This record gives sequence, structure tokens and C-alpha cells, in this order.
Amino acid sequence: MKILFINLPYYGHVMPTIGLVQELIKRGCEVTYLLPYDWEAIIAESGAKFYGYQNHKKLSEQIKNAYAIADSIIASFDFVIYEQFFFLGKHIAEKHSKPVARIFTAHVTNKLLMNEFITTKGPLSIFKHKWIAKAFTKDIAKNIPLKTDNWLDEIIYNPPQLNLAYTLRQYQPYSENFNDEHFKFLGPSIYKRKSEDFNFVKGEKPVIYISLGTVVKGGVAFFQKCVEAFRDEPVDVIISVGKRFNIKKLKNVPHNIHIYNSVPQLEVLKISDVFVTHGGMNSVSEALVYGVPMVVIPFTADQPVNARCVEKLGVGKHLPYSKINYNTLKEYVWSVMTDAGIKENMVKVQELIKQAPGNAGGAEMIIKYYKGLGQK
Ligand code: UDP
Repeated sequence: MKILFINLPYYGHVMPTIGLVQELIKRGCEVTYLLPYDWEAIIAESGAKFYGYQNHKKLSEQIKNAYAIADSIIASFDFVIYEQFFFLGKHIAEKHSKPVARIFTAHVTNKLLMNEFITTKGPLSIFKHKWIAKAFTKDIAKNIPLKTDNWLDEIIYNPPQLNLAYTLRQYQPYSENFNDEHFKFLGPSIYKRKSEDFNFVKGEKPVIYISLGTVVKGGVAFFQKCVEAFRDEPVDVIISVGKRFNIKKLKNVPHNIHIYNSVPQLEVLKISDVFVTHGGMNSVSEALVYGVPMVVIPFTADQPVNARCVEKLGVGKHLPYSKINYNTLKEYVWSVMTDAGIKENMVKVQELIKQAPGNAGGAEMIIKYYKGLGQK
């Protein structure tokens, strides 16, 4: 079975899929991954063959470039997999009479959830203006017959038969809207990653890990508050401030606080007792996999939804940015870290993750679906 995997160059939309590709290859599939040329090294980890298209700053151009190349090579494949943002995936597969599956690297989006995303500040918020969403769609899909005239509606109302999402059904908002037949919840993407060295040795004290991910720019004021909150506390704090942050701007940093521009997050989560996070989907999933309770301080995009889901599962608390000061930070961190109920809930969630199909189950589903269509 020769598979064409079409994706767009966004870290969070690519990385979870690497494990799925590895599992498909283990089962004898030949996978070709289509992404911009500069992503070739990242895809090498998956074992897939690589096919490139021209990268671009604009999402619309990325989609156009991906479409043009996919259109020219798709004939030699048996099956197409695409990530939701490449919203032409179903169309291009049908145009060439190829069976197709779609991946959601976060939640599955329905109308209600999409409304939440576009009304929160972030990259999607521009599309709350319908005319902009329609113009964007028209520009990309000039001669392409779509079911709707808005790319976001296309994602919601024109689903393929098989949709795989990297979340637990229990973590999916409005989960009752998604039937079991067409929507499969794989759980977080767990796969063997290249391990990176991190020379921090955990001592007796609990470890607090603080990171706002790779996109949100935490300011000096925020990180200095973190420093002050835990200055005289019996804890070790690891703060990842982001690659562009000048660490020298933080003053009087005590010995129990360890500041880095970037850390190997999985290694750090393994030794952490609590995670203060912006609530990016990957960070939340990784914390759930390693059983680290969270204080979620959401900023944009899907982060507020994640903060809500973390609270709903009872594995952490939402701390609104407007409420942050030394006291609230300290109070939330200690209460999350010492709450027996949160610990119990985390154990239950980890059990659900263990039982979830994961990448191996996802690969099986794709192969079964393909075979069920009467293909060889
Ligand atoms: N990450 C990391 N080291 C850091 C900070 C972040 O490896 O110091 C990784 C983290 O493990 C996660 C990703 O960056 O996989 C962040 O993705 P997420 O969806 O949480 O947030 P985003 O950066 O997209 O806002």
C-alpha cells in the first residue's frame, strides 16, 4: 500500500504524525511525506520517503504549493492521508479516485469549537470575518469545486469517511457530535523520539517546570514574577523562556531556579511534579502522558479550550493571565501539586491513554479501512 501523506509546515501539525508514519511503515506500507523542502530532515525521523514543495510565509500559498505538487504525483499512490488544515485533501483524493483519511493533530473541529477558535485572539481570528475566510478560500481554490465557499466550513461539513484525532474522546469538546464510526480518537501521539541530554539532576525537592511553548513570547515581567514566586520556596524550578529571550534580563535569580532558552521537554516532564504551561496541545498531551498535573495560563488559539479541558478532566487548574502575581502563582502551583484528587484523576487519564489506540491502532485502522474498500 503506497501512501501519500500531505501536510503543512507547522510543528504541532507535523510532529504527532511521525509516530503514525513509523507504524504504517512497520506494517509494510510505503509512505511518502509531502512537506516544504526545508522539512526534509524532520521527516527523516519517520522513515518515510520525502517529497518537497516550495515553502512560503503565507498559509494560502503553502496550501496552493502543496496542492500543485500533490496533484502531479498522486496518481502513483493507493491512499491519501492529510492533516485538517490542508482542506483540499478530500477533494484531491476524490479527483484522482483515491481513498483518503484525515488527521487532526489536536481536537476535531465542529462549528461550535471553530467558533471558539476564531473568536479567540490568534492566527485564526482573522477568519471570524466571513468575507475574509471566503476570499481566502476563493484565492486558493479558484477552479476547484468545493462543497462550501469557506475553508473552515469545508473542514467541518465535508469530512472524509475516516478521521483520526490525536486526543482522547474524554478530552474532546462536544464529543457527542462525533460518531465512533467515522471519528477515531487515538489519544496523544506517543513514539520513540531522539533523546536529548539534559544535565539536571533531581534532588529531594519537588520540580516545577514552566514553559510557554515555542510561539507565545513570555515577557520579562512574567518570568520575573515566576522567579519571585518561588525564590524562597523548597522547590527546584526549571524555566524554559524561549529561544529569543535574553536570560540576562532576569535579575537576582536564586540557585533553586534554573533558566534555559529551551529544554528537551519530555526529559524535563519525566522529573517534574507540576507543569506551568500556556496550554498548547502538544504540551498538554505530553504532560498527560507523563502524568504531570498542570497550571494552565492560556494566551491564544486553542489554549483557552485546552485550559477548560484540563480542568474538566480534573488534572490541573486554569490560571487566567490577568490574575497572575507572586501569590497566585505560588498558590496555584502548590495546590495543584499537592491535590490528591488531581493525582487520582491523572492516574485515570494515564490509564485511558494506555488503552487508547495510539499510533499503532491508527495505522491498523487505516489499513483495515483500505482493505475494506476492496483494494488489494
Ligand atoms: N518544547 C520543547 N522545549 C521547550 C519548549 C517546548 O521541546 O523548551 C516543545 C514541547 O515539547 C512541545 C512543543 O515544543 O512539543 C510546543 O508545542 P505546543 O503545542 O505545546 O505549543 P506551541 O509552541 O505550538 O504554542
